[in-house]
Amino acid sequence: MVLPVSIGATADVTDALAAGSDGRLRCFWAVGAPEYLDYHDSEWGRPVLTDDGFFERLCLEGFQSGLSWLTILRKRAAFRAAFAGFHMADVAAFGPADVERLLNDAGIVRNRRKIEAAVHNAGRCLETIEECGSLAALMWRFRPATALTPIRSRTDWPAVTPESTALATELRRRGFRFVGPTTAYATMQAAGLVNDHAAGCLVADEVEQEQRAAAALLSGR
Ligand SMILES: [Zn+2]
Repeated sequence: MVLPVSIGATADVTDALAAGSDGRLRCFWAVGAPEYLDYHDSEWGRPVLTDDGFFERLCLEGFQSGLSWLTILRKRAAFRAAFAGFHMADVAAFGPADVERLLNDAGIVRNRRKIEAAVHNAGRCLETIEECGSLAALMWRFRPATALTPIRSRTDWPAVTPESTALATELRRRGFRFVGPTTAYATMQAAGLVNDHAAGCLVADEVEQEQRAAAALLSGR
């Protein structure tokens, strides 16, 4: 997701935080809608370790381009149904009839270029796995080597970083579409390659521990 600039949250402690209905502090954007709250608490920043998991994140972040993330979250179940549960091998086999089916599916974002990119990218995912053994392993190579500066203000959230620019370059070199540096960074945030929960957020420390454990697991330590 590309973070909303403002969703009317009240500021507490720092303007990066806001209290949910349970009174606990979270990243401010999480309290804007129930869908955001669930996504924030249970998924955003939690490590993704499977290839299909990364395929789904890349697809959804690509579909978001120009839309609100809330739109994508509300359509997520329909997306999963329409895209074979984001099993990349199934999606890579989609043909023109599937693209027409998706263009007629009111439950998803009906944008031909985005739909064709998702199908196309499934094939690039399979090629990447063929060459590297794992899409997830490739993605995790772009986890920053050094700890990030804690988020203490709404203006502290980056939209693009050197690592996300490098990741986008790598994916485009492999033929992926709809993966610029901003989409790449949003994927890194969502899939746990960076911990962008604000300092003081309810889940920030838990997410940090999960990310470190995942990185250690992947590096074989
Ligand atoms: Zn948070």
